[in-house]
Amino acid sequence: MTLLDGKALNEKIAEKLKAEISRLETLRARGPLGRRPKLVIIQVGDLAESNAYIGRKIKFGEKIGAVVDHQKFPNTITQEKLITQISSLNTDSSVTGIIVQMPLPKHIDRDEVIDSIDPAKDVDGLTSRNLKLLWEAKGEGFVPATTKGIISLLDEYKIPIVGKHVVVVGRSFLVGKPTFLAFLNHDATVTVCHRHTKNLAKHSRSADILVVAAGKPNLIGKEHVHKNQVVIDVGINAVQNEVSPRGHNEERPRSTLVGDVNFAEVSKIVKALSPVPGGAGPMTVASLFENLLEAYNRQIS
Ligand code: NAD
Repeated sequence: MTLLDGKALNEKIAEKLKAEISRLETLRARGPLGRRPKLVIIQVGDLAESNAYIGRKIKFGEKIGAVVDHQKFPNTITQEKLITQISSLNTDSSVTGIIVQMPLPKHIDRDEVIDSIDPAKDVDGLTSRNLKLLWEAKGEGFVPATTKGIISLLDEYKIPIVGKHVVVVGRSFLVGKPTFLAFLNHDATVTVCHRHTKNLAKHSRSADILVVAAGKPNLIGKEHVHKNQVVIDVGINAVQNEVSPRGHNEERPRSTLVGDVNFAEVSKIVKALSPVPGGAGPMTVASLFENLLEAYNRQIS
């Protein structure tokens, strides 16, 4: 079984982006460029999971020499204020990319907030404009980071996509739907499964490439896969560790991160599998910054 190592590819991409930023630095010293690629991350509230995801993005940005500005707002912020803030970032020429960390509180309309981002700075690729470009298979948009990361991971391991049957489990706005479109644009035959799909195992076993993004630990077990399959596990789930009778051991974390695939079972069967952690997660971060560099290059050309 081949382990699809997203962490290793993340590091390889980091080296590439770091070299590119340092090349820009040299150009800047000589010419009128005047700024480094800058990502603004907008967070509303203080969810522990969001803090962890943002922490990884900040770390990666620092590693490659990009500027990352984390702007955190209280849960009570109005939608109007949030959109005003985004509008001012849209016109700020020092800002290359803007992302809004999901989820947003219930009183805020996610789609309106996302659509207030200038599509040229929408490095998460979630504005209507960029999703339409993905829908139309026009390469000039930004592909959402998780989807882009999945395709890059398959490319890295020279896993062909054209003509393959891809089954995507999950149809979310953030992962499932853009992933479905990206595989279709890569000439795969795509099936999308979701919580109402009957007989998931029948569909998942028919896949050459199985992508799972459901947020359900152990959803995919040995009955869902076959030996010639490539499986990408996008799920990130914090599972509570058992507490010993003597209470919590300070050295043992209270929870462990697992994917949607039962790794112990599935890794014994399939041809290739991405682990959690260390698979799709690090690829998402690296792909976001690839989009940032792409945005930068388009903005200066
Ligand atoms: P979501 O809750 O918005 O969507 C989940 C999807 O899974 C839904 O479409 C639902 O119909 C489907 N689903 C749920 N139970 C199912 C079942 N039993 N059978 C078939 N389909 C089922 O979640 P999301 O934002 O798409 O995220 C999915 C998972 O991916 C989560 O664990 C999330 O943490 C993770 N995630 C990882 C990354 C990454 O960088 N690796 C990025 C985003 C999300």
